[in-house]
Amino acid sequence: MENWDNIYMRRCLELARKGLGYVAPNPMVGAVVVSGGRIIGEGYHRRFGEAHAEVNAINAVHRPELLRKSTLYVNLEPCAHYGKTPPCAELIIAKQIPKVVVGAADPFAKVDGRGIEMLRKAGVEVTVGMLKAECETLNKRFLTFVTQHRPYIILKWAQSADGFVDRLRQVGDGQTAVRFSNDFTTQLVHKMRAEEAAIVVGTRTMALDQSQLNVRHWHGNNPIRLTADSTKPLPQWMKELYEQGIQSLIVEGGPTLQQSFIDAGLCDEVRVEVSDVRLGEGVKAPVFAGWSPHPALRFGEIKIQTKYFADIQ
Ligand SMILES: [Zn+2]
Repeated sequence: MENWDNIYMRRCLELARKGLGYVAPNPMVGAVVVSGGRIIGEGYHRRFGEAHAEVNAINAVHRPELLRKSTLYVNLEPCAHYGKTPPCAELIIAKQIPKVVVGAADPFAKVDGRGIEMLRKAGVEVTVGMLKAECETLNKRFLTFVTQHRPYIILKWAQSADGFVDRLRQVGDGQTAVRFSNDFTTQLVHKMRAEEAAIVVGTRTMALDQSQLNVRHWHGNNPIRLTADSTKPLPQWMKELYEQGIQSLIVEGGPTLQQSFIDAGLCDEVRVEVSDVRLGEGVKAPVFAGWSPHPALRFGEIKIQTKYFADIQ
């Protein structure tokens, strides 16, 4: 059986994930308080500007006297600075929690080891690195944003089995694009959009698709809609988006724009819907190499293949 430390940290990750789409540009954080082999309190960061996970977990404990005999598990280093809320490290010390297990350190400039240091100086026993890889993967958007000073970038497109993204066909007086999506993948795309801060398309895609680019088939926030035109040098634009606090992007087309993201090394993840349909000709899908493979998910006649840039996973 997996050891209990891992099980508690997995619970933190499960709680943290509930904040996806609501807490950015903050990280997703979950915390559990364990005493006598039982979880006596748990919480997560629910919404940007609201209480941090540690505060919610500590407040959920019905018998506060047990805090002095408990261990707090949290997937990211507790904060040490006054932001929108007071520092969590200070609260942990004030509540006399003797032991803290941390998943990943927080590289954010205002924390960056200070939370762990503050706790240790106060005599709290701190363990760092429990399920580190999983904890870092969960906060891939936040970690990319704070360490690389640009949004986390996801490219998403749909293509035929033979690698074409589009073939215009004549319908009545106008042209329309071949569709590769089904009801399931449409819903999934809307879920994906709700998880990111902004959605990017090129001017041609915007004109061609006239798509609403929203999340009407899923709950959550609509991402900000951004249009990339050829006058925008990508690295400069990414820097500007970082300064505006845009933590993640989903780039939905077209292939020329997506290829320019790949060529500029500005891409962390690619999600491709591959239809069983073969087109034989048309607009070619972007080309990329050196990515880690990931199992595909199948939804009827369409499979979704997600690939991560090798550095990420
Ligand atoms: Zn905090």
